[in-house]
Amino acid sequence: MSNKTLIIGAGGVGNVVAFKCAMNVDTFGDITLASRTVSKCDAIAKNILEKVGVRITTMTVDADSITELVEVIRKVQADIVINVALPYQDLSIMDACIECGVDYLDTANYEHPESAKFEYKEQWARDRAFKEAKIMGLLGSGFDPGVTNVFCAYAQKHYFDEIHTIDILDCNAGDHGYPFATNFNPEINLREVSAKGRYWESGKWIETAPMEMMQIWDYPEIGAKESYLLYHEEMESLIRHIKGLKRIRFFMTFSQSYLTHMKCLENIGMLGIQKIEHKGRKIVPIEFLSTLLPDPASLGARTKGKTNIGIFAKGIKNGIEKSIYIYQVSDHEKCYEEVMSQAVSYTTGVPAMIGAKLILEGKWQGKGVFNMEEFDPDPFMNELMLQGLPWKIMELGADEDRRVDK
Ligand code: NDP
Repeated sequence: MSNKTLIIGAGGVGNVVAFKCAMNVDTFGDITLASRTVSKCDAIAKNILEKVGVRITTMTVDADSITELVEVIRKVQADIVINVALPYQDLSIMDACIECGVDYLDTANYEHPESAKFEYKEQWARDRAFKEAKIMGLLGSGFDPGVTNVFCAYAQKHYFDEIHTIDILDCNAGDHGYPFATNFNPEINLREVSAKGRYWESGKWIETAPMEMMQIWDYPEIGAKESYLLYHEEMESLIRHIKGLKRIRFFMTFSQSYLTHMKCLENIGMLGIQKIEHKGRKIVPIEFLSTLLPDPASLGARTKGKTNIGIFAKGIKNGIEKSIYIYQVSDHEKCYEEVMSQAVSYTTGVPAMIGAKLILEGKWQGKGVFNMEEFDPDPFMNELMLQGLPWKIMELGADEDRRVDK
């Protein structure tokens, strides 16, 4: 009997997931794409039919409502729910999956709309309920989190006895031609980037002011780029699962234009997440800003350049110190040619599809809630090679790294 797959969220990432599931229809079977605005699902379904020749079903759902979600999951008789709506919907979709006894996967950790906190606490707290319902929840199956976690697990399995330091490096050297736009949901992106920085060293978290720490890293196939330390959610699970870890940090590149616009918007209060009074109405400044900014799903056709995301790990193997850089380079225009999305949505959507594929094929199995690095990285790394995200490994000496501003 063929599988039944339910994808929730028809934004930039949802588009890629739907395309890639359709391109792997033997695994995903009957595919349904459901979102708040059904016309967005219909537009994606039309493109998939034209380009891939697979017909998918579309539906409307308010993913903040557990009742509506349960109804849709039962109607579809889903074997798996792939959540690529917003992080605000993680808990309601997880709870609906528990009620229906269906496996769950997402790409970003839960956030409460009114507090920009990135943590797994409330999702990990559902581990017992997932076990009792005999279902699996796979958290953070995008690129970062997602592939970066798998890269760390792969480094641990094949290259090191102990990893001592990890720097996760995320470079987007793409140009969409706008003075200011975000490559994924503007609200989520700006909340993440304007938050305080944080990294983990010697067993404790160290906080920095937003964008306080900058280093210049040399990204293969792109070149040297200013990279800023941010807090990123995969660090929270990796410190639990990587043996001997002494420090982990996350750096992301930004253009000067992006940083100047963001600072200005922040200074005038446009990044605020609390309601304010405007002409007798309550509005949330960052939500209003999101309405004004280009829809990330519309950037695909105009973005040129490459992304390079990877992990730089240092540690020991057989008593000898060494370091490696595992990375993946994507080209915005090639991604658009294949699935009509830019590389940021592509590099998130493909791993979401791969995580779901491994669950449906029984290669990644478990009852409860899991992060990516808890499973054997090899089948995932193989799928990346086959599904459009080929990766490379650079082996370096103990004292070599890719920083150019030391
Ligand atoms: P978009 O804003 O483009 O799309 C989000 C979609 O979710 C929209 O179609 C929206 O519907 C839908 N949605 C929002 N609220 C609801 C709701 N209550 N009920 C039903 N549907 C809803 O975002 P992206 O596609 O850029 O991002 C999707 C997810 O991917 C986010 O969680 C983001 O954080 C994550 N992400 C993860 C990355 C990683 O590497 N791990 C990287 C980039 C993104 P509508 O259009 O009708 O409003």
